[in-house]
Amino acid sequence: MSVPDNDPLGWPPARWEAWAQAQGLERYRARQIFDALHREGRRDFRAIGVLPRALRERLASEMPIALPQIARKEASRDGSVKYGLRLSDGALIEAVYMPGERRDEEIVEFDDARRDSGLGTRDSGAEPRRPRAASPLVDRFTICLSSQTGCAVDCVFCVTGRLGGGRNLTSGEILGQLYAVLEDAHRGTDGMRVVFMGMGEPLLNLPGVLPALDVLFEIASPRRITVSTSGITPALASLAALPRRPNLAVSINAADEETRTRIMPINKTYPLAGLIAALRRFPLEPRRRLLVEYVLIAGVNDTPQDARKLATLLKGLPVKVNVIPLNEDATYLKEWRRPAEEVIDRFAAAIAAAGLVATVRRSKGADASAACGQLKGRTRDVRRGRS
Ligand code: SAH
Ligand code: SF4
Repeated sequence: MSVPDNDPLGWPPARWEAWAQAQGLERYRARQIFDALHREGRRDFRAIGVLPRALRERLASEMPIALPQIARKEASRDGSVKYGLRLSDGALIEAVYMPGERRDEEIVEFDDARRDSGLGTRDSGAEPRRPRAASPLVDRFTICLSSQTGCAVDCVFCVTGRLGGGRNLTSGEILGQLYAVLEDAHRGTDGMRVVFMGMGEPLLNLPGVLPALDVLFEIASPRRITVSTSGITPALASLAALPRRPNLAVSINAADEETRTRIMPINKTYPLAGLIAALRRFPLEPRRRLLVEYVLIAGVNDTPQDARKLATLLKGLPVKVNVIPLNEDATYLKEWRRPAEEVIDRFAAAIAAAGLVATVRRSKGADASAACGQLKGRTRDVRRGRS
């Protein structure tokens, strides 16, 4: 079955306007349709009373809206829920709902809200911060989205990568994924953060991700949307050129070319030096920082010397470093181990001593295999020779 590219959920306002114009409709109809879909959550065009009946009927028959089916749902003890979602062509992807900031949480995966909340961070070096008196505990949550049905980037420490490449999600499928989770979790968009940290490499799917961002920016602040990339250097220019940009997270994971190539083969195509140069050119609004992700793997990139190299590499860049101790997987990541707690602490301390802001991300959802690098969608390997 082919993948529809006329999924109305993925159309940004400009596309509706062009469509309305081509149909000879008044311009305001475009906004009415967009708002009905994205602000009022309508899923049936026939029920959008502000539109003329003939238009409703046409939309309903020409552009059916179908959210991905929830095929699996696994809840973790910490409240996060991993969803297996079935797309229209049968492909299975995964998305994760993560309830946010509670007082008893040590760390919030994917979330850089700790600077605001001051809750239980392990900010290396710095004094533990107090919650600001004026900052009530908002009922925040984060949804981690997939951008592809697999990942061809093939990082050695990532289950998605080990399972091999997949196809791009359309912008409609990306939004459908979000709405399927929101509806199941009985949430609106208040307090929502969205991170593209699920399956796939978002910057290898600009045709799906850019329109999806356009839609997302209408329902959430760009500061609450984060795109994480393994460093597709040329595509960073496309993000940089956007009038509104999401937060950028970059999976650096190693501080020298050799180590990075060993664990991220993409480094041969887009080496660290060029990636860092592109990050130095990346436009950042005041008080915004780049998020640097660093998966800590025992015996690979976890020494204080590695930490100092990383600090030198990032010198002068406005960054916050997220150290992510490897989430192990006995089936797909046999060779790689999470470092011991004292090694993690020593690494974080060395980073802080070198003057970088760093947090250690204690994964949420590990018991539901919902943590970073554990999203797989399918259950069988599609590539020969892999188990
Ligand atoms: N492809 C994008 C986004 C998806 S991966 C990227 O690579 O950035 C999201 C994050 O999960 C990345 O920072 C990646 O380095 C991290 N990750 C992948 N596998 C992991 C694992 N086994 N343990 C911990 N983090 C992992
Ligand atoms: Fe792909 Fe990101 Fe996994 Fe690397 S870490 S294989 S880029 S999903």
